[in-house]
This record gives sequence, C-alpha cells and structure tokens, in this order.
Amino acid sequence: MLFARYQSPVHRPLLTLLLLAVVLSMAGVIHAGNKAAAPVLETARLADNVYALIGPTTNRDADNLGNNANFGVIVTNDGVVLIDPGASYKGARMIHETVRSITDRPVKLVINTGGQDHRWLGNGYFQSLGAHIIAHEKAVTDQQARLQDQLIRLGGLIGSEGLEGTEAKYADETFTDHKVLDIGGIRIELHHAGHAHTPGDSFVWLPDQKIVFSGDIVYVDRMLGVGPQSAHRSWIAAFEAMASRKPEVVVPGHGRPTDLNKATRDSYEYLVFLRGAVQALIDEGLGMEEISRIDQSRFEYLENFDSLKGRNAQRVYEELEWE
Ligand SMILES: [Zn+2]
Repeated sequence: MLFARYQSPVHRPLLTLLLLAVVLSMAGVIHAGNKAAAPVLETARLADNVYALIGPTTNRDADNLGNNANFGVIVTNDGVVLIDPGASYKGARMIHETVRSITDRPVKLVINTGGQDHRWLGNGYFQSLGAHIIAHEKAVTDQQARLQDQLIRLGGLIGSEGLEGTEAKYADETFTDHKVLDIGGIRIELHHAGHAHTPGDSFVWLPDQKIVFSGDIVYVDRMLGVGPQSAHRSWIAAFEAMASRKPEVVVPGHGRPTDLNKATRDSYEYLVFLRGAVQALIDEGLGMEEISRIDQSRFEYLENFDSLKGRNAQRVYEELEWE
C-alpha cells in the first residue's frame, strides 16, 4: 500500500527527496570514514620502545583538539611514560588511543614539559586513569597564572564541544632544576635549563638512546613563536644546554623529528639572528615602529613566517629594552 503511494506522480518528488537524503547521509559516512583513516597524530618509532606522536604544524582546531604539537611515548616494563598529555580532555583521549595502537600497557607517568595548553590541559584525563604527573615547579606556576586565558583562547579555536570535559589538573609532583627517573630499566632525565618559550620549559633526555624530547625549546619546519610568556635570551641558553647532550634524534615541540643540525638552523639560529638584528635597530636609535625594517627573509622557508615574524621581533624588542 505504501509502495503504491510512492508510485503515484504526486509523491514522486517525495521519493526523490528521500533518495537524496539517503545518498547525502551515505556521503557523510564516507566523509567521516576518510577522517578516521587520516589520524591527527602520526606515530614515528625512534628506537626500541620509544615513539614520537607527531601533530600538525597548523593552528589548534576542532579536528586536532589543540594537539598541534608533538608528544612522546616510552614503553617500559613498568608501564608507559607519556611526554605531554595534549591540550584538552578529548585531545588526551586521542593521544591515549594512539598509545593503545602501540601497546596495551597502561600510562603510568605523564611529564608536562611546559606551561602551554598542549603540555598540560590533558592532565585530568590521564589522572583519572591513575597516572602520576610530573612537571617543573615553574611550569605549574605558569599554568595556574594563564589558565583562564588558555581556556578562553582554546575554546575559541576548538569549540565548546572540543573543550568538553577539560579541567585544570596540576602535576602530582614537581621538581626544581632536574630529575632523574629509572622506570622499568629505562633512564629518563628531566632538565629545566631556564625560561624559554614558557617559564617552566623542560627537555626530556634519554641518555642511552641519545634521544631528546625538547618540548617547546625547539621548533622545526615552522617558525617558533616568541610570545609574552617567552624569554628569548634564556631560551638561547636553554637550547645550548639541550644541545650540549649531543642528541642523535631531536623530537621538537613542533615539526618533524630531526637531528641537532636542523634544530639549530630552524630554532637556535633564528633566536640568535633576531636578537642581533633587534639590538642593531636599537643601537641605531630606531623605535619599535621601525621593526619591519628587519629583513627576516633568511627564515622565510619556515611555515607561519608571515604571521609570526613581526610579533616575534616586537617581543624581542620589548625584552631588549629591559635588559
Ligand atoms: Zn607548543
């Protein structure tokens, strides 16, 4: 009876609409399937039991949930050590799903390498699974100071749905200067070598594997950001402290895992160059309004060059005025 009704000319447009709806919803399923096939985080195996999870170098958005950065995974006999928990509750869950594609061992320890959102706002997710969280004491102070600002900015970029479940949860344990861990037979050193991209930035050094997870002390492929929370002079010194370990693999905070040469070229040389160029401008008696005279084209190959070069120079100018 129903079928007979759809055969009538009067109802043919309705049938067409229904068919269209079915086709569109199938297209939606296929689209969602494509998304699932291209995960936000790429897994790179660096050594036995040591992995980098590589996030995109673009800005935070609803797809990456704020995970536009790199994370580290060390699989030990005593469970997984995770370097940085992601920027949100759902971002942390995304990281955990990626960890589970590597190992079924539980995440036992989470390190926060700094105060930026993707270094700590996923803490709550992993704490609820029973993980213990470690951060430098200055990273925690920075996280507390910038919490509201970070939540507002993050919400604007990943949306309220993306932010759902995210709560400020701070480290269970803090350290000063450095901390040496021996977990499941793997030696893991945490070093704070001064205020860099954020006040409490630390790098994670695996001396036996000669791998460093630099956190935001190193950016490659994309231009680093000198923000109001950064201090470029001590950032240069923090890079030198990291480089003095002579790592064979550098997992930067942003960009692809690399060697010390490229890390030096893309981050260290840029900071040193910018400091020198801004100082020369000041020595000539020129004000901040002349900042665009600085030719930064040597670093034009880095992503985000256009959006960050001016802001970076301004921030270095402000800092140099106070030195
Ligand atoms: Zn970052």
